[in-house]
Amino acid sequence: MPPNKMYISTVNHIGCTTRFLLVEPLNFKSKCPDCQAKIEKNEKWTISRLPCPLAQSHEDLACGIVIKPSNGHFKSYKLGDDLHIGISNSQGLIYSFWTKGIEIDTSKWENSLKILDFRAFFFENLNLLDNSMDFFVEIQRKMKKFDKSKYMENDWNCFDFVMEYMKFTNYRNYRSKIDFLEEFVTKKLENVVKYCMLFEKLSNK
Ligand SMILES: [Zn+2]
Repeated sequence: MPPNKMYISTVNHIGCTTRFLLVEPLNFKSKCPDCQAKIEKNEKWTISRLPCPLAQSHEDLACGIVIKPSNGHFKSYKLGDDLHIGISNSQGLIYSFWTKGIEIDTSKWENSLKILDFRAFFFENLNLLDNSMDFFVEIQRKMKKFDKSKYMENDWNCFDFVMEYMKFTNYRNYRSKIDFLEEFVTKKLENVVKYCMLFEKLSNK
């Protein structure tokens, strides 16, 4: 199933002053609020996408830390609901830890949120980045630190896996999950929730 695209665009009828927002696919029945002309795909209109915080492709997910609601889509996510977090390699493969141990997959991560990009940290060397993730997983599998038997919903979970990787790479050593959440997650999560609310509102117009 292709991911649901969640683009919002600003639309402006050239010569008129009021800009308005539309979701894709564009509804060509929509009218200019100033002159009531129907929107068309020609040079009389400018249509530009707002930056979408949610990943719309594997490329958007690659090389970083990604989060998503543990259950369902960000559209129905409320601040405080459980989150699942993972690290992604250059191919957009996502490594995470859950009740079944370390999992590597791409499915189920559509429309998730990338909260940090590792490319600059690895000097844009994607091989180095991929190798570090594979090496990290190999070590963890040997040490059994992230064995499925070790999983604890609150005390040893997907966040610990990601923080352990950041420690392993010398990116950062966090004293607590709260520090990590404050630095990377909270603000971005609020933005996503706002974006989804706007998207829903515009979709139901
Ligand atoms: Zn107009």
